[in-house]
Amino acid sequence: TLKFKIMSNDNKSIHEFDFNLICEYFSSVERQGPGSPEVTIKALGFIDNLHSNSKIADIGCGTGGQTIVLAENTSGYIAGIDLFPLFINLLSENVKQKRLEGRVKGVVASMEELPFEPEDLDLIWSEGAIYNIGFERGLKEWSNFLKKGGYIAVSEVSWYTEKRPKEIEDFWMDAYPGIDTIPNKIAQMQHAGYVPVASFILPENCWTEHFYAPQPEAEKIFLKKHAGNRLAEEFVANQRHERQLYHQYKDYYGYVFYIGKKI
Ligand code: SAM
Repeated sequence: TLKFKIMSNDNKSIHEFDFNLICEYFSSVERQGPGSPEVTIKALGFIDNLHSNSKIADIGCGTGGQTIVLAENTSGYIAGIDLFPLFINLLSENVKQKRLEGRVKGVVASMEELPFEPEDLDLIWSEGAIYNIGFERGLKEWSNFLKKGGYIAVSEVSWYTEKRPKEIEDFWMDAYPGIDTIPNKIAQMQHAGYVPVASFILPENCWTEHFYAPQPEAEKIFLKKHAGNRLAEEFVANQRHERQLYHQYKDYYGYVFYIGKKI
């Protein structure tokens, strides 16, 4: 089975959790990462090459919160890509309900081996997922699938300041050493062969209202179902710890949308 490395809540040891459990938990909430429909629409506002035959990939789409928003606000074809069949199944159900089957397709695939031809795509979208391959590597590798003049729009956790309190610095360096400041991320985008078109910080409600608010209830149900399962308990403890850190240190980091145009 696939395993996912995550820090235990005592911050000392690293445990491996059964990824199936994590998928089950995250499939019960609205989003699998910070974001909102308003922010997806705002980021789309910087993209000016789309038409009814455009090909769009939403990479690491999860259960497809933003995929549906993309579909409702563009007229092209969208492939929602995620590694986990459970998430893609939920996306496909939503697509059916919204009668978008003609334009949106869920595909189980890895962002490390995308099922596209070179220069196939007009737009690559990825909210809160490029960290899985790494920001710089993802920007470079995915660029091969974009047409010249095509766009990339990704959201990524970033530092707001040059210096940070040790507790939050240590937490993120362990969870995602690729975290960096906004100017450094923009420089990486330029270096990967894009013109950096725009970047903006996601408002706090993308974390509080859309990502964190549904979690306490989801955690209760999850813990009840997996009563006595140490991995489930530790996973929930980690989620709570991460939320508490966000509230304490949100002046120092957050999610940022980066939009670039391939040259
Ligand atoms: N875009 C969604 C959102 O904002 O709600 C999901 C973001 S979630 C933090 C990260 C997503 O990346 C998960 O759905 C996870 O399954 C997916 N993922 C992780 N590794 C992946 C890989 N190698 N290839 C494709 N998707 C992957």
